[in-house]
Amino acid sequence: MEREVQAVPERRELLYEGKAKQIFATSDPKLYWVRYKDDATAFDGKKRATIAGKGELNNRISAIFFDRLGQAGIPHHFVRRLSPTEQLVRKVTIVPLEVVVRNRAAGSMARRLGLEEGMVLTRPIVELYYKDDALGDPLVNDDHALVLGWVTEAELAEMKRLALAVNDVLQAVLIERDVLLVDFKLEFGRTDSGQLLLADEISPDTCRFWDRNTLEKLDKDRFRRDLGGVTEAYQEMLRRLGGTDDGQ
Ligand code: ADP
Ligand code: UDP
Repeated sequence: MEREVQAVPERRELLYEGKAKQIFATSDPKLYWVRYKDDATAFDGKKRATIAGKGELNNRISAIFFDRLGQAGIPHHFVRRLSPTEQLVRKVTIVPLEVVVRNRAAGSMARRLGLEEGMVLTRPIVELYYKDDALGDPLVNDDHALVLGWVTEAELAEMKRLALAVNDVLQAVLIERDVLLVDFKLEFGRTDSGQLLLADEISPDTCRFWDRNTLEKLDKDRFRRDLGGVTEAYQEMLRRLGGTDDGQ
């Protein structure tokens, strides 16, 4: 697919500062400028730290994943990387749902259902969480999402279809790098014309990656569980994905 060569718009005012990223307006009303931060939070923001190099690593890793997903025909917001820690994305109105796909039981699912972490699921499970920090992002079902007007039936079906397609693409990329994709979280948004796009980030902050042979964790669980070696694990993920330091 040919990509249009676009002039980089100017960065304008900070619109939003989140836990892991800053979002800036740009001179192009359809585009946002995203800056990935080194800040990390867990347990609804109760645990906080700065992880040296995380912003740059997640910016690079996310860019690699979005490019691969785009090649596979998945519509997404990523336009291009701008600097080591910054990227340009298409502006969307975020759907207030976190879509989690799981290939193995881990984290909150293992805790909630008393399952052994790492248990292989007979097929991927898609879960929905209401994106609301004050409520601790509660687990919801399709009816909540539809009746409370967060999505239409068509959007929900499309989000689930895309989430499973993302799972297939990412699993195929990762297994070649000896990485198991345990689970991950996606966010979707609508453009002004109503097109549904995959948005936010796909990185070790939002996925569980385990080494295929040793089951070593290569993701944010190293921070959540005080396992140490957080930056090294993220660096290892970038290395396995073939990321290079192109000086940008
Ligand atoms: P949080 O809001 O959970 O603290 P971040 O620090 O990652 O998370 O902030 C990034 C915010 O930007 C999130 O709320 C995310 O939903 C939103 N976002 C991601 N991609 C886009 C986009 N393309 N357009 C608009 N908002 C986006
Ligand atoms: N996740 C995320 N943001 C959240 C909650 C979860 O990116 O606010 C990701 C998390 O990294 C994991 C998957 O979604 O890859 C499932 O997370 P889980 O529900 O197990 O919650 P956790 O125990 O990680 O808090």
